[in-house]
Amino acid sequence: MAKKAVSILVTNDDGIMAPGLAALASAVSGLGTVYVVAPDRERSTIGHALTLHRPLRVEPLSERQVSVNGTPSDCVNLALLGLLPEKPALVVAGINHGENLGDDVTYSGTVSAAMEGTLLGVPSIAFSLAGEDHRMFTEAGRVARTLAELVLREGLPRKTLLNVNIPAGVPKGVRFTRLGHRVYSETVRKEIDPRGKAHYWVGAGPPLWEREEDSDMTAVHDGYVSVTPLHMDLTDHQMLHKMAGWQDALATKRSPHPGKRRLTRAKRTGSR
Ligand code: MN
Repeated sequence: MAKKAVSILVTNDDGIMAPGLAALASAVSGLGTVYVVAPDRERSTIGHALTLHRPLRVEPLSERQVSVNGTPSDCVNLALLGLLPEKPALVVAGINHGENLGDDVTYSGTVSAAMEGTLLGVPSIAFSLAGEDHRMFTEAGRVARTLAELVLREGLPRKTLLNVNIPAGVPKGVRFTRLGHRVYSETVRKEIDPRGKAHYWVGAGPPLWEREEDSDMTAVHDGYVSVTPLHMDLTDHQMLHKMAGWQDALATKRSPHPGKRRLTRAKRTGSR
């Protein structure tokens, strides 16, 4: 008996018209029924934002393709909790126009879309292509399909997603990596507008990175596909353990206001 076809949700942060989205949808089309739910315009670096204070509108473009006037996370949330006829087996986001490496994943709408899928209990992968050469989306699509197939077969642990970056050009291979770290050397750029008023640009300089052998950034810049497993539990467990020692210091400073302390004592005495 033939295996029942699974559903796959495809989204991005570059918007419904982006060539990277079409490349990803086409790459995974043989693996299941593909639904595309993507922002109606570019929402890069929007992070994990959700739209709570205005209504979302859904524009159907074809049978299983809609655009939403919201963020990538809105698209995933809406698709998984409302639009799709069933829970998908996989969420894929991308293929982003540009790399999403290291500390930058915290700004990324592409990675956040995969985070939203993960939080809602669906194995999710974010794909990004380094560089500006859009002809490379076909090659990147091949990588995406292979990894999507693997995750559909093997699954992912709860709260874990994959962040995949594909180098410009034909990849030399695959490296499993950890997130690299940015060096924030650039300063905010101040400019004066035609009316004499100051305005500012953040993140205007070229990104600098710490050189670390096992990082995602190093892999991509050496010409390898980088696959980084990310975990949604941001708790620092080592620090949590260490903070047990803070308990005493905090306890002695609990009631700095003398009047309040007297009141508390009086109340306690009265109740006994
Ligand atoms: Mn983008």
